[in-house]
Amino acid sequence: MRPEAAAEFEVVNPATEEVIGVVPVAPAAFASEAIAAAQAGFGVWAATDVEARARMLERLAQAMEDHRSQLSELTSAEIGTPVKDAATGQVDLPVRVLRSYADIARKYPWDTRDAAGSAVVREGAGVVVAITPWNFPVHQIIAKLAPALVAGCSVVLKPAELTPLNALFLAALCESIGLPPGVFNVVTGKGSVVGEALLQSDGYEVVSFTGSLQVGRHVGEVAGSKVARAALELGGKSPAVVLDDADLTTAVQTTVRNCFVNAGQKCNAPTRLLVPRARLDEAVEIAGEVAGSYVVGDPSDPATTMGPVASAAQRDVVTGFLDRARSDGARVVTGGETQQWERGYFLTPAIVTDVSRSAEIAREEVFGPVLVVMAHDGEEDAVALANDSDYGLSAEVWSGDPGRAARLARRIKAGQVRVNGVRTPELPVSPFGGYKRSGIGRELGELGLDEFVEIKAILGDPFVGEE
Ligand code: NAP
Ligand code: MG
Repeated sequence: MRPEAAAEFEVVNPATEEVIGVVPVAPAAFASEAIAAAQAGFGVWAATDVEARARMLERLAQAMEDHRSQLSELTSAEIGTPVKDAATGQVDLPVRVLRSYADIARKYPWDTRDAAGSAVVREGAGVVVAITPWNFPVHQIIAKLAPALVAGCSVVLKPAELTPLNALFLAALCESIGLPPGVFNVVTGKGSVVGEALLQSDGYEVVSFTGSLQVGRHVGEVAGSKVARAALELGGKSPAVVLDDADLTTAVQTTVRNCFVNAGQKCNAPTRLLVPRARLDEAVEIAGEVAGSYVVGDPSDPATTMGPVASAAQRDVVTGFLDRARSDGARVVTGGETQQWERGYFLTPAIVTDVSRSAEIAREEVFGPVLVVMAHDGEEDAVALANDSDYGLSAEVWSGDPGRAARLARRIKAGQVRVNGVRTPELPVSPFGGYKRSGIGRELGELGLDEFVEIKAILGDPFVGEE
């Protein structure tokens, strides 16, 4: 037995700092075993028909619904999200994603003809390495697992080190509904060790990664060297652009609440609120009031509206950004306080203003409850400021004139633009992903399925043998 194979790590509740589980730290050598298991699983799974795979997704959706409170309590304890938000975001949303993929698969163009009369066949690409972060853990896993499985791929998942328990719970549900062995494999451990070893393995065709820009660049480089496909969902510094004819109060209140979902640990959070210069003071005041109204505390208490951030390290990242912003001359209007808690990685939500356009806090992703409020000098300036970012994941536009808002939306370089506060649609099929350094590829909907599909043209007499 390998000595490292006995190593374990503790999963800590960020609200209580109590250990809530212990999971194995897979050594690097385990990666090749996991890939081999997935290759065997692929052989079995790719031979099933689309309807059988769609039904399996529906069974998983049902199993998740049947375990709704258990899974949301587990996720809340792992990540600190208020338990009611964990139920909607980490159970109800992924359940809808699973069902959407069952429907999409039933209508997908698996087998078509081109203008030359050749058959164009789509099929599962092979073994998928999925690497996910901790912030919306179940949603991020299902956004990869659902399309991969329905395409006929098998998956090796390396969940974030902070949040492995929900992944293991999902794996147990998959087993209970009869998903064949080897089709969904979970490897827990460190990204830098077993995650890296998975990337360096031969035998996978797709790597689907969600996480930071820094790790994402590396994933893309390694996948490139293997000529494997990489889908990268990375960070953001998303703008909310408020035009002079918008309802300022609604725009600011909605943006603050959206920014602070999951204690701001949300890749598409609108973290730069851009308002007309003449309304800046008013906007800062409204934002400060909303921030001050949060009930920060125990995520299992239904009255809580913001839990802790995910780890002590993440809390220190956030306070570090705020300290540097202050020494850069910015004003932290409210928030960023940690001292009232003896236990737990809590932090009050922060509103920051008097920020220069080149300041770190205006450009870098904080990944915590921090909203920057900045002034723009009219629509042209607002577009330039919104697009002046390395990132391009998401954006929000606000105008009293729907036509003007729609025209503005088309000028913004981001993978998703939300008009006047529209939220995630009930049917989660709109493509999600980044322009520029926010990523490559799209998740959700039919375009999300394309990432896991390989294409074959059959020339000659492609329909001989067909009924
Ligand atoms: P991260 O540090 O990039 O980690 C993401 C995943 O990669 C984790 O599972 C991590 O494992 C693993 N990893 C780290 N180094 C690796 C390596 N060398 N090889 C293979 N895997 C490796 O990101 P994070 O701090 O967990 O998450 C926050 C970031 O994710 C933010 O930047 C956020 O914007 C982004 N995000 C993007 C989206 C999106 O859809 N665009 C959604 C959510 C979050 P360990 O946990 O063990 O380190
Ligand atoms: Mg990390």
